[in-house]
Amino acid sequence: MKILTINCGSSSIKYKFYSFPKGESLSAGLIEHIGEGHSNLTDHAQAMKVVFDNLFKARAITSIGEIEAIGHRVVHGAETFWQPHRITPAVINKIKECSKFAPLHNPANLEGIKACTQALPRVAQVAVFDTAFHHSIPEYAYMYAVPFEYYRRDGIRKYGFHGTSHQFVAQQASRILGKPLGKLNLITCHLGNGCSITAIQQGRSIDTSMGFTPLEGLIMGTRSGDIDAAAVLYLMEKNGLAPREIDQILNKKSGLLGISGISNDMREIKKGVKKGSRRARLALDMFLYRIVKYIGAYWFILGGADAVCFTAGIGEHNPDFIARIKKQLAGVVKKTTKFLVVPTNEEQMIGLLTYNLIKSKKRA
Ligand code: ADP
Repeated sequence: MKILTINCGSSSIKYKFYSFPKGESLSAGLIEHIGEGHSNLTDHAQAMKVVFDNLFKARAITSIGEIEAIGHRVVHGAETFWQPHRITPAVINKIKECSKFAPLHNPANLEGIKACTQALPRVAQVAVFDTAFHHSIPEYAYMYAVPFEYYRRDGIRKYGFHGTSHQFVAQQASRILGKPLGKLNLITCHLGNGCSITAIQQGRSIDTSMGFTPLEGLIMGTRSGDIDAAAVLYLMEKNGLAPREIDQILNKKSGLLGISGISNDMREIKKGVKKGSRRARLALDMFLYRIVKYIGAYWFILGGADAVCFTAGIGEHNPDFIARIKKQLAGVVKKTTKFLVVPTNEEQMIGLLTYNLIKSKKRA
């Protein structure tokens, strides 16, 4: 089955084209600057036409009818979607409702769905949610200890993100270790621009570091990660900051960038350290300290793990970090615990989940 996967941002479409069940990648690309002043791509519908043209040019298809299904990344499924869903008008409406929790991402994802529906109205489309893999986190771990009504009325709880990546990495680890996923305990560290760690018990997520939004947990490129909520209130009050302004500070100006004053990019931080920048060194030390702290916590809630896995830009390219983390954890982890670098492939996971859902519906 030929499946197109779409990861649609507000001004970009990242696509990959696969043949399943093998999961063979036939073509891939990125369309950028959609709707930006200087661009001739005014909307996502036009950008989708470029995607189809590219597939023709790459000889991945000879007719548009060869695209048998489309899998979309959707960031937030809230408590409505704990599994991939076949896209219908009702599902679209519910994804819209979830936009209140991801106001930048879900509407962009919906633009991609709309553009594909216009272009290929009869092709099956599936939404794969970033939050879904974390459906198995128990209540005592996903609740925040604020008055219960804020959970019931406003949906305040941990949802977790990067689920598709953690799920993919867990499956790959199971292959590498030659053990069924259902018999494995893993700690998966997705360290990209956004960073999160997941505790996986017998193949299921039981806790993850991101929370109600991707802001919680690890120190990231531009996000603070964990911070005392009272410090945020103090800053707002003292500096007269509006919610939007503090949101920008915590999500866009903090993390590696905020501490180092140099960059959100780990390569630049490392260069800064080499040149003797004290703040770059501090940013790096804080980044690694927080990772070790989470791995330690997850090690104990899991009762030990078979492997600690590292993925995404930082996780895949910094063996010196992994050596440092491993050294620090040496007194805690078992001698048999593996430290694995597992390149992530969220698109392939989206393709596979799309394939599985459509195949199971056909069988039914
Ligand atoms: P995103 O979350 O946007 O997909 P990536 O997974 O591409 O991000 O990760 C981006 C991060 O990975 C950046 O901090 C970048 O510096 C880091 N990175 C990528 N390649 C390397 C490398 N070769 N060495 C060190 N860091 C790297």
